[in-house]
Amino acid sequence: MATRRKADYYCIGLESTADDFSVGILSFKGKILANEISVFMPETGGIHPREAARHHAEVAGKVLAEALHKAGIRPREIKIIAFSQGPGLGPCLRTGATAARALASYLQVPLVGVNHCVAHIEIGKHITGAKNPLTLYVSGGNTLVAAFEAGRYRVFGETLDIAVGNCLDVFAREAGLRQKLGAPFGALVEQLAARSQNFISLPYTVKGMDLSFSGLLTAAIELLHRGQHRLEDVCYSLQEVAFSMLSEVTERALAHTEKPELLLTGGVAANKRLKSMLETIAKEHNAKFCVVPKQYALDNGAMIAWTGILAYQHGLSTPIEKSFVRLKWRLDEVYAPWVGG
Ligand code: AMP
Ligand code: MG
Repeated sequence: MATRRKADYYCIGLESTADDFSVGILSFKGKILANEISVFMPETGGIHPREAARHHAEVAGKVLAEALHKAGIRPREIKIIAFSQGPGLGPCLRTGATAARALASYLQVPLVGVNHCVAHIEIGKHITGAKNPLTLYVSGGNTLVAAFEAGRYRVFGETLDIAVGNCLDVFAREAGLRQKLGAPFGALVEQLAARSQNFISLPYTVKGMDLSFSGLLTAAIELLHRGQHRLEDVCYSLQEVAFSMLSEVTERALAHTEKPELLLTGGVAANKRLKSMLETIAKEHNAKFCVVPKQYALDNGAMIAWTGILAYQHGLSTPIEKSFVRLKWRLDEVYAPWVGG
């Protein structure tokens, strides 16, 4: 233990872009020592940014203490503090950034602002061993197809309105499903969909390489309220249409980029039907199919810590006076000198 510590440094990563507050602790060599997550679950309705931020502020100390305890390291062994700087919900991001600044100042170590979407890809590569993947990142707040090309991560396709996870969540709430611990809305829709094979036509919207889920959501809710179909059939049809749209765009991007791997990540990556559709596509294009395991596919602090380490090792850090949060920080604006060399 003592030898390992002497030979290695540690990074604490704070994630707070939306409904999750998470602290990850990694060694510079890439060993994951802790990845503690507290999920905000509103009693009713969607995620209100201020309420989620209040949750983050309330649990921050406890989650941090748990992560430090699990990692078995003392605060002074920490070399850098990384935090999710964007994109995300303003109040939530600011709460995480404030905690990160306080920690970095107290410990007198550098702060590293991390792009949340890049972090999903980097931890996915780290965990699955993918080197140069085309990534489909599908979550409650993001839906995009991206790959590293010509010196930057590039977006090949993305949603023009809501994220696919949000589409499933809003539908599930309208259907009166109750979110339970360990079973997010998307998983409840998946369970019901698995009981049906009755396809009902719903709007399929792919525009060039981009996607739109809001019309699909409205139509699925209307169908539900008409009361002529079983909930299972509507869930099944909603999933089939949404995932076929994602598959079409992913397949075209894979054919265009000829990447050797297809990486699937984000909370929706847990869905078996989506996985099977994408696995088929990967096979057809001779790409290795890599699915990020759930605890590292959901929003998590480990991904922020790991990306912070990569950035810091390539000379990047974020002075406190420039550590303002970036609500709309796009993946293709990120300078990522650690990739490809
Ligand atoms: P994230 O935004 O990455 O934290 O992931 C949360 C999103 O993943 C929410 O929209 C969930 O409903 C969705 N999700 C989780 N499990 C599943 C599943 N099995 N199928 C579809 N969506 C899921
Ligand atoms: Mg989340």
